[in-house]
Amino acid sequence: MAYDFDLYVIGAGSGGVRAARFAAGFGAKVGVAESRYLGGTCVNVGCVPKKLLVYGAHFAEDFEQAAGFGWSLDEAQFDWATLIANKDREINRLNGIYRNLLVNSGVTLHEGHARIVAPHTVEINGERFSAKHILIATGGWPQIPQIPGAEHAISSNEAFFLKTLPKRVLVVGGGYIAVEFAGIFHGLGATTSLLYRGDLFLRGFDGAVRKHLQEELTKRGMDLQFNADIERIDRKADGSLNVTLKDGRKLETDCVFYATGRRPMLDNLGLEHTAVKLDQKGFVEVDELYQTAEPSILAIGDVIGRVQLTPVALAEGMAVARRLFKPEQYRLVDYQMIPTAVFSLPNIGTVGLTEEQAREAGHEVQIFESRFRPMKLTLTECQERTLMKLVVDAKTDKVLGCHMVGPEAGEIVQGLAIALKAGATKRDFDETIGVHPTAAEEFVTMRTPVAG
Ligand code: FAD
Ligand code: NDP
Repeated sequence: MAYDFDLYVIGAGSGGVRAARFAAGFGAKVGVAESRYLGGTCVNVGCVPKKLLVYGAHFAEDFEQAAGFGWSLDEAQFDWATLIANKDREINRLNGIYRNLLVNSGVTLHEGHARIVAPHTVEINGERFSAKHILIATGGWPQIPQIPGAEHAISSNEAFFLKTLPKRVLVVGGGYIAVEFAGIFHGLGATTSLLYRGDLFLRGFDGAVRKHLQEELTKRGMDLQFNADIERIDRKADGSLNVTLKDGRKLETDCVFYATGRRPMLDNLGLEHTAVKLDQKGFVEVDELYQTAEPSILAIGDVIGRVQLTPVALAEGMAVARRLFKPEQYRLVDYQMIPTAVFSLPNIGTVGLTEEQAREAGHEVQIFESRFRPMKLTLTECQERTLMKLVVDAKTDKVLGCHMVGPEAGEIVQGLAIALKAGATKRDFDETIGVHPTAAEEFVTMRTPVAG
């Protein structure tokens, strides 16, 4: 049977655009539907605008520290509206780039909400198109618990477009988004509290990293409240919010920001017309080839709920394009050793196993740790300290994990990830000459284990 398209991709985000462009480049006839914004979450309400706001927040400490180097400045002023307008202009530019990328690679772009009406048929803007393969790359959406007054809370989607910077913000959650946005609001001058329901935020990260970040954020004056959760939110006549915690305490704020995870975006997608199955958490269930239970339908990216990171969605999109249209170049996506950064202030950078995971997996481990005040701060009042940590297998000498809290941790860990992927041993680290004077050289000069 002749189809309108070889591949029809629903969602022009990180994964969808990658799959569509490469499939078209391999000679396939490809259509893409996008209902909201080209480039998806990462470009519009995720990685990119978030990093721009983190840069904005970082200037606060740059100005403070400049005095130690002889600079004197009049009191620095910050204007939220300027930052948001400039950010919006940049995102607009990126939207145009994504449009060109798709169109120039020969992909047919349909702007509107796509719905699957049969295993090989998609409906968009009242038109139906048939496709040999349909790829669901619809991403995720913020999930706010349905407590009384939840309608007064915002998520990351709204935070990027606030008209003014709130004077007081309560951030709820203990994952990437909560920690990053607490740093943004605090750095830009809002009185910021972070409320997390557990004992210590960033569950799943190395214990030393979590503790170190807690100490650094506390030093900076951020209010961290653990074992705290909201029962209800009430709006007062003056527009501010009264927040009642489950332990009975009451807090007053101007903005409650929820960062409590993301659900798969499956709204009105028409999955009921297919055999596609969902997993226990509601994400689209796929096998290792991103194949759903419906033979003609695949899924990648946040909607499958594996690792919700842009580079992972890109790798999955590439894998699908290759397997379908360039099988000789096909390689399985390797989910081991995925490096990641939390763009908190200071940053976290991490790759490989945490100490806890290594011990749990039965490794006999050696731990190397370095804690120091970065050289740049020696002429300033700032008492921030950097943490670097290596988790090593005592038997094989292989480095199992690298963890850092400190300036540019994300940048530093990217290079270490290549070493770990190539199977580097601690001896390889020791025999690598450092770059002096840098913070990164500490990773090749740690000699004495702190724990075994
Ligand atoms: P998305 O990028 O979400 O794209 C899905 C697209 O599908 C969207 O454009 C949506 O409009 C469209 N769509 C949905 N349904 C339909 C439909 N029925 N019809 C047509 N179109 C539809 N990751 C990192 O690696 N680094 C970071 O620093 C980082 N920061 C983040 C910060 C925030 C605040 C958030 C929310 C996420 C962040 N992420 C980060 C995660 C990253 O953005 C996602 O993992 C990535 O965007 C997932 O890509 P995707 O292709 O699966 O989905
Ligand atoms: P995460 O899954 O990272 O964190 C969710 C947090 O909310 C956890 O601390 C969780 O607690 C808490 N939580 C969940 N449900 C509730 C609830 N009902 N009440 C109170 N607290 C709750 O999600 P995020 O929203 O922060 O981010 C989504 C994903 O986006 C991330 O996992 C990451 O993959 C990606 N991302 C990546 C970034 C990067 O690469 N720098 C930046 C931002 C996002 P508990 O731990 O107890 O379950």
